[in-house]
Amino acid sequence: MEIKADEISKIIQRQIEGYEAEVDVREVGIVTSVGDGIARVYGLDRVMYNELLEFPQDVFGLALNLEEESVGTVLLGESHLVKEGDLVKRTHRIVQVPSGPGLIGRVVDPLGVPLDEKGPIKSDVFMKVERLAPGVVERMPVKEPLQTGIKPIDAMIPIGRGQRELIIGDRQTGKTAIAIDTIINQKGKDVICIYVAIGQKNSTVAYIIKVLEDHGAMDYSIIVNASASDPTPLQYLAPYSGCAIGEYFRENKKHALIIYDDLSKHAAAYREIALLLRRPPGREAYPGDVFYLHSRLLERAAKYNDENGGGSLTALPIIETQAGDVSGYIPTNVISITDGQIYLEPELFNAGIRPAINVGISVSRVGGNAQIKAMKQVAGKLRLDLAQYRELVTFAQFGTELDRASQAQLDRGARLTEILKQGQYDPIPVEKQILIIYAGNRGFLDEFEVSQIEEYEKKLYDYFEKEHADLLKKIAEKKEIDPDMDETISSALKTFNETQLKDKDKERQRPEGARQSHE
Ligand code: ATP
Ligand code: MG
Repeated sequence: MEIKADEISKIIQRQIEGYEAEVDVREVGIVTSVGDGIARVYGLDRVMYNELLEFPQDVFGLALNLEEESVGTVLLGESHLVKEGDLVKRTHRIVQVPSGPGLIGRVVDPLGVPLDEKGPIKSDVFMKVERLAPGVVERMPVKEPLQTGIKPIDAMIPIGRGQRELIIGDRQTGKTAIAIDTIINQKGKDVICIYVAIGQKNSTVAYIIKVLEDHGAMDYSIIVNASASDPTPLQYLAPYSGCAIGEYFRENKKHALIIYDDLSKHAAAYREIALLLRRPPGREAYPGDVFYLHSRLLERAAKYNDENGGGSLTALPIIETQAGDVSGYIPTNVISITDGQIYLEPELFNAGIRPAINVGISVSRVGGNAQIKAMKQVAGKLRLDLAQYRELVTFAQFGTELDRASQAQLDRGARLTEILKQGQYDPIPVEKQILIIYAGNRGFLDEFEVSQIEEYEKKLYDYFEKEHADLLKKIAEKKEIDPDMDETISSALKTFNETQLKDKDKERQRPEGARQSHE
């Protein structure tokens, strides 16, 4: 048999075309250097950004730097077990976390490993930690309120579902307190709450868990914890994991609230990783893409329109400032990404104004649409009144004599400031908030001393619950105050004030009376 040369070359060509290697060499790499929790891997040409890589001895790594010749990987877990020359396998998986109802009430790390003693997570739903944010067409404008139960916020800096509102302030100014109270206030409101703790002390997180348990809030909450003692890659991953867990609920027509406490530490963790990966440092030594770090995270908070199920994810990121400096790199970034900020000040905190919110510079750019009408009716002018009051206070400090109108304004302002104070773990339903602000605005508090107002407020709520429960219900249901209701509220407050003043008179007279009868 004769074999022609061109036939042979055709056969070889066909065989080469059909050749499929059983092991693709591009799927396995080799560690060229390792140290500080970072491994450089040679030979993984096709690896994806954020792909999970498998090292020997069950160590996993995250591919973060895709370079021409090598892949920079951060090691999650026991990095000392990895040596030069180790083989590294691709997993073809972007990092995932378990999510779904099985996670509710649990405390997990950013990879979904349980940190509490309630056994393994019962869930077969997995979510990729990095996902694209919903597009603009699938979204709905912010329209539904997310009540925090905190008077100054619900009245003047209202938050809507799907919104991103930053809580910013120096250390120990009550940032976490606002977040925790907001979670407590979601009880019975069908909102799943996720608290992501980044780089905090484990003892602080344990305390928060206890508080939430004591208030029955763990029944609808999930905690993701990457503490200060955990490896930095886990701290870097934590907010994305928490977000992915929240997205499950958003995708399934539910409402979720996520708190990132705090993103300053997150940025610091990312900077550490970037410097170890030898990325060129930029401003304040952060890598160039630190803005993208937070924008891609916060973009994922959204409210879907009805065609897409109508679910929502609301985000409350927290940023810690140094000596009130909001012009730092990270604070300015996050301020520009979010839809507004709640600014906390140590001066106010120390002066006993708690929550220490500086109402003048705190804003909510979209939440106003979500505020119920009744609240708008009573609190519409509040911000302006308080601003004028603050100006007048500064002016009055110079000892200038004030005319009667200004004095009245000062008195009113002092009372309004007083009613906006609120203790911790004590969220107030919106109808009661409306009631006390109504009383303040309409001058019902002017007859009382500033020092009596705290007690007045408590008694007022009790009185309305006992005598006018229907009225409170009506405000909550109708969501607006019509002229009829206005009349009823006003006369009820009048009656209440009279009983209060009578009680005060009695108190004043009783000791005298007692003395007289003795003599
Ligand atoms: P850090 O910077 O340490 O995270 P933070 O800004 O999160 O602090 P918190 O831990 O929330 O602040 O609060 C600091 C302290 O102030 C706590 O002891 C807390 O109990 C107290 N505190 C916060 N809010 C109030 C409030 N409304 N009324 C009374 N005390 C409060
Ligand atoms: Mg805190």
